[in-house]
Amino acid sequence: MNDNFPVGFIGLGTMGLPMARRLLAQGIRLVVHDLDEQRCAELARAGAQVAASPAEVADQASIVLASLPTPWAVEQVALSASGLVHGKVSRIFVDLSTAGPQTAQKVADALAVRGITAVDAPVSGGAAGAQHGTLTMMASGPQEAVNEVRELLQMLGKKIFYVGARAGMGQMMKLINNLLSATALAASCEGLALGARAGLDPRVMLDVLNASTGRNSATEDKIPRAILSRSFDLGFSLQLSFKDIDLCIRSAEALGVPMWSGNHVRQFYLSALAMGGTDMADVARCFETWAGAEIASTASATAAVPSA
Ligand code: NAD
Repeated sequence: MNDNFPVGFIGLGTMGLPMARRLLAQGIRLVVHDLDEQRCAELARAGAQVAASPAEVADQASIVLASLPTPWAVEQVALSASGLVHGKVSRIFVDLSTAGPQTAQKVADALAVRGITAVDAPVSGGAAGAQHGTLTMMASGPQEAVNEVRELLQMLGKKIFYVGARAGMGQMMKLINNLLSATALAASCEGLALGARAGLDPRVMLDVLNASTGRNSATEDKIPRAILSRSFDLGFSLQLSFKDIDLCIRSAEALGVPMWSGNHVRQFYLSALAMGGTDMADVARCFETWAGAEIASTASATAAVPSA
């Protein structure tokens, strides 16, 4: 960040919009692009300059950040005929998307030919983390390039991990995290639906689990927030959740690593999609259907027995 160029930001969705807003609020000059003109207009009102294509962004910005939904979108933005690879000014591309290690490697190799260094820095922490600047970021790529963008990343995240020099290592780390997070949710719903069928109250079960060794991010946060409450709104799309699990399994296969439980989890999320689910929380509905019981509480009591 030791030049006078604006910073580029491509992909102004659930994650990208609040991240771009944070950068503007910290005094960073931004040139932005998204296929959705309304989102661009929103950022223009907040002070950003809007570009018509990724190449146009890269004609003006030496560092370009992106937060895009799929590996395909990342490839388009980076390498297509209107991609940032054709920009005149860009030196560093920081991909904040979850796009998988293969895409990161492919993009890094193609950009390197044009003298652009790729850093992959996928994020964890959801829309709230993006809004409050509390994301966890897992960066990989040449150390010098990561050091150069660290100041920018620190405006977006609280914990910035450097996980390796090779393109895609950050992506692999992120996919492993998301597989474990999706596994915890599915396995916890399976247990709670069984308990509900056996007559246990799900709120009481959660109290017991969270005071015992079965606790995890789903029992502590996701299930009370979106399933017990019956809102089924975790704010993370089921489609994106399935994409992450699928990318993880594919990446494992590319390395010849069997993923026994991961493949089952993949099927659970595919089942939730087949049942018409739209939010990650909808995976619970599969287990509720199979158990014939809802993960819904009838009791307001907790399981804790006051000590004598
Ligand atoms: P989103 O679908 O809300 O936003 C994506 C944005 O990219 C949209 O505004 C879309 O118009 C734009 N876009 C798509 N293709 C484009 C293209 N070719 N050129 C320009 N713009 C394009 O997605 P999101 O929830 O913001 O997620 C972005 C990335 O962050 C994904 O890879 C996701 O897996 C990851 N992620 C999301 C969350 C979350 O809670 N939503 C959390 C962590 C990581």
